[in-house]
Amino acid sequence: MTNDPTQTLAPDSLGPTVTVGEILVEIVASKAGAGFREPIEFIGPFPSGAPAIFIDQCARMGGAAAIVGAVGDDDFGVVNTERLKRDGVDISAIAVSSDFPTGSAFVRYRKDGSRDFVYNIAKSAAARLEWTREVEALITRCGHIHVMGTVFASPAAWAITEHAIAVIKARGGTMSLDPNLRKELLTHGQTEEKFAALVDKADLLLPSGEELFLAAGVDTEQPAIKALFNHGVKEIAIKRGKDGSSAYHRSGAHAQCPGFLVDETDPTGAGDCFGGAYVACRRLGMPIERALEFGNAAGARNVTRLGPMEGAGTRAELEDFIARTARRS
Ligand code: ATP
Ligand code: MG
Repeated sequence: MTNDPTQTLAPDSLGPTVTVGEILVEIVASKAGAGFREPIEFIGPFPSGAPAIFIDQCARMGGAAAIVGAVGDDDFGVVNTERLKRDGVDISAIAVSSDFPTGSAFVRYRKDGSRDFVYNIAKSAAARLEWTREVEALITRCGHIHVMGTVFASPAAWAITEHAIAVIKARGGTMSLDPNLRKELLTHGQTEEKFAALVDKADLLLPSGEELFLAAGVDTEQPAIKALFNHGVKEIAIKRGKDGSSAYHRSGAHAQCPGFLVDETDPTGAGDCFGGAYVACRRLGMPIERALEFGNAAGARNVTRLGPMEGAGTRAELEDFIARTARRS
């Protein structure tokens, strides 16, 4: 396997995939509508946070997985740590704050699919990350780091991520990047330069929508892919919502996977589950086609369940889903 020119990511045996960032609970309004200005029914708390969803799916797929994050000393924290632990994520570098509560997001869908949020992240434990002894011990044995664009919203997560990338790359590890960015965010402060520097360090990029063009600075697909390969990116997996996904490797290898036909109950977390499965599969040595199929299945299965990580699947569950579910032609 080691001589395979499309083997982009460090093998699972080098050490776990780690991600750094927000761990939250999500509390979802039971009925669609606008905002939260009158009493309504909610369901939750569900474990959430883009990095947490990603790493949970990575572990469920069978990849070695760990997270650097922080929760409060409260039940919302336990909801997350128990789930991540149950699913096989190394939680040794999740700090428990006695001063700040676990981060939270209240969400309500509108009839047109758009969402209203009330967040408590910036003033929660989720924003209080520190490079502790436990973080040091974890990072020095990780084989891969997955970076979420949401890291730009947290100075503490950004500082840890930058240092962790250097440590992991120095020991032969690799890096993947899910831009998870909106154009409006990029123009904030130094985000544009930081983002460009991060793209240049990425071995694997996992964009959706306009993120491919934002990363490349080019606004058509094939030229954007070429530009990114010239910047050192080795592999790009493009997420296309209900239409599935495509992957391109700079060796010239590429693959397409049509979307699975499912009834969408809750679209939150699809991209994160796709990424968690794709990265795990590639690090376990699977070819691009197979990783893409698992990524698609993870994203599609997750949208069929209410709650952002409730549909993350084990390898057996995803194999079963692939066998039973029709695809768009
Ligand atoms: P997010 O909204 O979580 O940021 P994203 O934009 O990063 O998501 P998507 O393209 O929405 O990523 O979803 C990731 C993958 O999940 C898709 O490539 C697809 O395979 C699958 N998926 C998402 N939504 C659907 C759907 N409605 N039907 C079938 N598959 C879906
Ligand atoms: Mg996304």
